[in-house]
Amino acid sequence: TKIRFIIEQAREEKRELLTEYESKLILSELGINTPPIMIAKTREEVAEKASSLGFPIVMKIHSPDIAHKSDIGCVVVGIGSVEESIEAYDKIMNSAAKNVPMARIQGVSVQTMADKDIEIIIGMKRDPVFGPTVLFGLGGIFVELIKDISLRVYPFTDQDVGTMIKEIKGYPLLRGYRGQQKRDIDAIKAVIHKIAELAVQVNEIQEIDLNPIFVYEKGICAVDARILLD
Ligand code: ADP
Ligand code: MG
Repeated sequence: TKIRFIIEQAREEKRELLTEYESKLILSELGINTPPIMIAKTREEVAEKASSLGFPIVMKIHSPDIAHKSDIGCVVVGIGSVEESIEAYDKIMNSAAKNVPMARIQGVSVQTMADKDIEIIIGMKRDPVFGPTVLFGLGGIFVELIKDISLRVYPFTDQDVGTMIKEIKGYPLLRGYRGQQKRDIDAIKAVIHKIAELAVQVNEIQEIDLNPIFVYEKGICAVDARILLD
């Protein structure tokens, strides 16, 4: 399968980190929604791919050596034109050269900018004793500041996953707080199940980090993804 192919390729290159692009291909294979994405290696390709996607877009560094992109100035959001996409390309390349001079740079990803909404994170870590353990939480300051997360060890039922979601302090935000529309809890559940099943099927996957996922009234969109092999 396509998933197997991506993993074998990384293995051959002795890479543990899959790129965001590869990680999102795997998500797409599982039926988890991600923004349309392309890789561009030159300014010309950036111009061409940006206009073929349509604006606004987001651009990020594409490198097998960089796991955290925005810390080092390698993510630009809200790009509204071809000119801006070229400026973003130069900025990302300069930031990468300055901050991570040893990293292999393979270009940039050019992706559709998803509508912002409530952010959640879903993660998986393979525990040496307990096996796949899934983490769920609200994104942004909720996870960084308040550590508002819940964990479950696989296997779990759909009801377990429902409880896991309700357990976090920020749950009212998803449930529809003060007359706000409620968000798509079933779509969140589906991602949690799919991630756990992926971990069970593909033993080489050590860690999965979907941070953030935007949650809408209908559906979700995983705008960042990172998969680590063992
Ligand atoms: P990092 O590697 O630093 O985690 P991300 O890929 O998560 O970088 O990008 C940083 C932020 O940019 C995200 O938290 C999200 O708010 C925003 N972002 C990234 N990609 C998209 C996208 N395709 N659409 C909309 N917002 C995005
Ligand atoms: Mg991220």
